[in-house]
Amino acid sequence: MNDNTYDVAVVGAGVFGAWTAYQLRQSGRRVILIDAHGPGHSRSSSGGESRIIRMGYGADEVYTRSASRALQLWKEFFDEVREPLFHPTGVLWLAHDDDPYPVRSAETLKTVGIPFEKLTINEVSRRYPQIGLDGVSWAMVEPESGILMARRAVRAVVKEAIKNGVEYLQDAVSSTGVPSVTHAQDARATKGQKISAAQYVFACGPWLPKMFPDLLAERIHPTRQEVFFFATPAGQSFTAPALPTWIDFKDEAYGLPDLEGRGIKIAIDRHGPSFDPDSDDRIVTAAGLDEVRRCLARRLPALKDAPVTETRVCQYENTANGDFLVDIHPQFDNVWLVGGGSGHGFKHGPVVGEYVAARVAGDIARVEPRFSLETKARDQRRTVF
Ligand SMILES: Cc1cc2nc3c(=O)[nH]c(=O)nc-3n(C[C@H](O)[C@H](O)[C@H](O)COP(=O)(O)OP(=O)(O)OC[C@H]3O[C@@H](n4cnc5c(N)ncnc54)[C@H](O)[C@@H]3O)c2cc1C
Repeated sequence: MNDNTYDVAVVGAGVFGAWTAYQLRQSGRRVILIDAHGPGHSRSSSGGESRIIRMGYGADEVYTRSASRALQLWKEFFDEVREPLFHPTGVLWLAHDDDPYPVRSAETLKTVGIPFEKLTINEVSRRYPQIGLDGVSWAMVEPESGILMARRAVRAVVKEAIKNGVEYLQDAVSSTGVPSVTHAQDARATKGQKISAAQYVFACGPWLPKMFPDLLAERIHPTRQEVFFFATPAGQSFTAPALPTWIDFKDEAYGLPDLEGRGIKIAIDRHGPSFDPDSDDRIVTAAGLDEVRRCLARRLPALKDAPVTETRVCQYENTANGDFLVDIHPQFDNVWLVGGGSGHGFKHGPVVGEYVAARVAGDIARVEPRFSLETKARDQRRTVF
């Protein structure tokens, strides 16, 4: 494209921006995708090794339906590009007596028609003897869910989008690049390139509040999140299918089996301290390791003294309750804000992309009110996990 004129400029090639650019191109648009550091880079929220795709979302049917459609789209995409980046490990929910979330999840899965199996404690310990069941009263398996190899999946989407005709530019779009008029004329990259498009999508993940501080600084809160990998003994008892992915939201923890020889992964799913994605160091804390090791001793007791093989610090970009943000900027008629993945967004990438593409085209049967800017409160009260 020589005249720098596009139908849509998508800023940010994380999972939301990558799929948005891909889906826009599928619908015939001329698209440029711009990222400051490259798809799935190490400071982006999509830059981790792996992300869970599960269907259970308590009573939040909107996310269960989205996750189900997203899994289908991810699988079709991986088949098409011949990259096996989905591991169907199954997802095991560890349920506590006083926790309504797995109960509601099971009800919603039944309503939507997604396969799952409820297990008694005895069944869990027979099937997965590696798992410690302290405090657990029953469990539920989603047999078709599993793990997306996140960083590589985003890169694959961008590669395919480029193959299909999306132009890609690696540069930062200046935060002052959107002029203060009601219709954005152009955006400016730091190297001076002017990008002219009819519409702009800002899918900047944890950078969105920096790009639009007046609007979003108090509505999207990046938090520091630590992730640990531990070595496993030789053999297959800590790889899938012997060990599934497991979630224990009551204990604010989740774990992945040993995938591709990286070791088992464990993280605490509680919002950490505020985090600056540009300037903060990414070194895990001794307190974080202590907490995760206690969790390891409780849930995978055979690994309680296993050595740490890798660590990562990533960030969530949380809206007040965990609902995504996909809406038009209130002061511009051609600027879209897409983000607020809130620690659970990765799996939904293909559906967010479809939704944004439909909204940009003005061609949508149903606008999801939960994704609107006006529902984004300033006080943090997480309800979507
Ligand atoms: C530790 C951890 C575990 C998680 N686990 C799960 C999970 O198991 N399942 C799940 O579904 N989700 C999970 N998530 C959430 C999920 O990873 C995020 O919701 C998702 O990756 C957000 O993607 P994004 O595209 O919005 O943001 P990002 O991936 O951060 O992408 C934003 C992009 O915008 C670019 N950008 C920003 N500003 C500019 C600019 N001015 N100019 C050009 N480019 C710019 C950045 O370089 C970046 O590449 C987890 C997140 C973390 C941190």
